[in-house]
Amino acid sequence: MLEKSLSWIRPAIKKIHAYQVADASGLIKLDAMENPYQLSNDLKAELQIKLSKADLNRYPDPTAKSLREKLSQVMGVPVDKAIVLGNGSDELIQMLAMAVANHDADREKDVCLMSFDPGFVMYKMIADYSGVEYVGVPLREDFSLDMEKTRVAIKQKQPAIIFIAYPNNPSANCYSKDEIEEIISIAPGMVVLDEAYHPFAQDSYMDRLTDFDNLLVMRTVSKMGLAGLRLGLLCGHPDIINEIDKIRLPYNINVLTQAAAEFVLDNVNELDQQAKAIREEREQLLATMRDIPKLDVFPSQANFILFRVSDINANDVFENIKRKGVLIKNMKAETGLLRNCLRVTVGTPDENKMFVDALVSAMNN
Ligand code: PMP
Repeated sequence: MLEKSLSWIRPAIKKIHAYQVADASGLIKLDAMENPYQLSNDLKAELQIKLSKADLNRYPDPTAKSLREKLSQVMGVPVDKAIVLGNGSDELIQMLAMAVANHDADREKDVCLMSFDPGFVMYKMIADYSGVEYVGVPLREDFSLDMEKTRVAIKQKQPAIIFIAYPNNPSANCYSKDEIEEIISIAPGMVVLDEAYHPFAQDSYMDRLTDFDNLLVMRTVSKMGLAGLRLGLLCGHPDIINEIDKIRLPYNINVLTQAAAEFVLDNVNELDQQAKAIREEREQLLATMRDIPKLDVFPSQANFILFRVSDINANDVFENIKRKGVLIKNMKAETGLLRNCLRVTVGTPDENKMFVDALVSAMNN
């Protein structure tokens, strides 16, 4: 019977490797671009009272109207633009893919999602399981956009959606604004500016929504310090957002997330201060790492740093750092742009010091 059941699973799903989350028990966690800081004890105490009053017996507000209004105000969404919320921005990428996937017999168009490689792995993964082709245009050696290849790919593939992570993950850089503008202008469909790392880049396309009808801006509260809430937002022209909203499951943002996010957004200056501290720490960490021999440290406008080790195997460096109690991300590439690369999230000053000590010792092993 099991065989029969499994025979119904689409071959495309069987081929996919599930998204891997490393076990971080007992380790300093610098692998997932989280904010290392907790809310202050005062805010936590107030939040506890707020959450204790939440109606857990009731379904949440299906449209999370009040939370959307708050997000709109805090994130500076232009007043004539609309917002749809996701259970993390991952879910928004999934909704976008489902909205364009070609499952209707009466639609002849070949549909593809485009982005840039190396990039955020979920664009490809979601395309794969949504039955949509994924086109990853290779970046240049310095992780900038290859506009010649991009123009050709757009012309040939006519992507329904182009995802541009700004800054990019895992390379941590922001692309040239002129080039992004050209992509938005020549795209035959939607362009999603994924601003997950906005608190650390402090640069945004939110106000450009007014200039381009096909532009969508995606944000998340995850990197701001609320990764546990699972809340992302997609902003853009109301006609597009209304279509995406039809795919959203009615109660995708739960009661506790709505209450907690609204409360923290009322006190967003605390998260802003944390982001500022992380940006300062990032600069310190970049300077310290650049002084370590045999490391190629790439510039960062995010809360993480990509670096390449030379003359020594990155897998060994990763394992040695882990043995010292610090978990970072092994990009696990032997060739290509990410060859011998590792990625570290900026933590607290103490965590960063532990990481640097572990790194120096691993490089000298
Ligand atoms: N976009 C980018 C570029 C990311 O790196 C991530 C998470 N690492 C996400 C989106 C997803 O964020 P979340 O689902 O937590 O909102």
